[in-house]
Amino acid sequence: MNVFDTVMLSRAEEYDAAKIKDILAAHFAALGLNAEFFAGKKVAVKPNLVMKKEPEAAATTHPAVLDALLSLLRDMNVTPVIAESPGGLYTAARMESIYKGCGITPVAEKYGDILNRDVTWKKMRFEKALVCHDFDIITPLYEADVIIDLCKLKSHSLTKMSAAVKNFYGSVPGVTKFEMHAAFPENERFIGMICDLCKMFCEEKEIIAITDAIVGMEGNGPTGGSPRKIGCLLSARNPFASDLLAEKILGFEGTVPMVREAAKRGYMPESVEKLNVVGINPENVAMHDFVEPDSTKGGGSALTYFTTGKWGNIFAPKPKINLSLCRGCGECAASCPQHTIEMRKNKEGKKKAHIIRKNCIRCFCCQELCPFVAIDTKKNPLLNIITKFS
Ligand code: SF4
Ligand code: SF4
Repeated sequence: MNVFDTVMLSRAEEYDAAKIKDILAAHFAALGLNAEFFAGKKVAVKPNLVMKKEPEAAATTHPAVLDALLSLLRDMNVTPVIAESPGGLYTAARMESIYKGCGITPVAEKYGDILNRDVTWKKMRFEKALVCHDFDIITPLYEADVIIDLCKLKSHSLTKMSAAVKNFYGSVPGVTKFEMHAAFPENERFIGMICDLCKMFCEEKEIIAITDAIVGMEGNGPTGGSPRKIGCLLSARNPFASDLLAEKILGFEGTVPMVREAAKRGYMPESVEKLNVVGINPENVAMHDFVEPDSTKGGGSALTYFTTGKWGNIFAPKPKINLSLCRGCGECAASCPQHTIEMRKNKEGKKKAHIIRKNCIRCFCCQELCPFVAIDTKKNPLLNIITKFS
């Protein structure tokens, strides 16, 4: 079996750590991940903790999946470090608060002092990169020999889908992520940069991608959508192969730009039919009505043509503050890579966010990090007509 083209796929109906552990144990055995594999290696677990959200919101990796994985690793005498850099400031105090808010702290503490509190980073270079060669990487992931990419399956306003490959963006420290959005404002280049980042890790380290697709997020993910039961778990040694299958499971086959770019680069087989899927038949879990983000609805070549390049400023979907929901917390302004959100007082003297359009690069960081889901997606009505008839 070629483990780099293989994806393990199992049904998983509920967040029951014991049942999930049984599933992961079977996946690990099939992928050759045993005590001998881990012996003497530094292991880091990289969950998706994009922001402080309770597990039921389905924006972050569920603690029960982490619990199952840590228990399995303990059986193999592995003590990992849990490391993540969410959006926003990367400080020890903020990390504590996010670990707690996401329900990770009590689970991790059962296995020792394994939550990362080192908020330094190192430089990594990828000579074979096509878009971006140099990355700042948080120290525990830089130092790890094995990274367990414990991601959540979600929709995503910028990249349409977030799973194993996109999860690596959380290896870049805090606000550096915003700088990278500003450095790669065109969606195509941003996606190319993420593919470089993930491929760099695949070449430098052993990667194990586990996708929490028991309950995912649909709609305006990665944080403002709605939980949606999907009912499965995926494991793979190649995160690009895993995402190819995840794309199919969401019913997004052939339409997720990051998956298309990776296939074009030859990072995994070009179609699900060429993957070695072990376990259940993907057709039995593939969804047909999973809601995509407002920003990508009606996708296709017309959408791409009219939302990029010279037409982008006119037609591309844009973030829009919902003033009735905005509580004036200022998180969006602090996270905007273009510094193009101002906090202004309304007639009642309440602070509200205001986007100055001309500098907006439509990265949707503001929507991702708004704690009150107060940023909608505004689409040009003409775009709806164009994409409908294309
Ligand atoms: S993050 Fe959300 S609630 Fe806070 S100021 Fe921005 S739009 Fe308003
Ligand atoms: S306003 Fe929002 S979408 Fe526009 S550049 Fe700032 S964070 Fe990105």
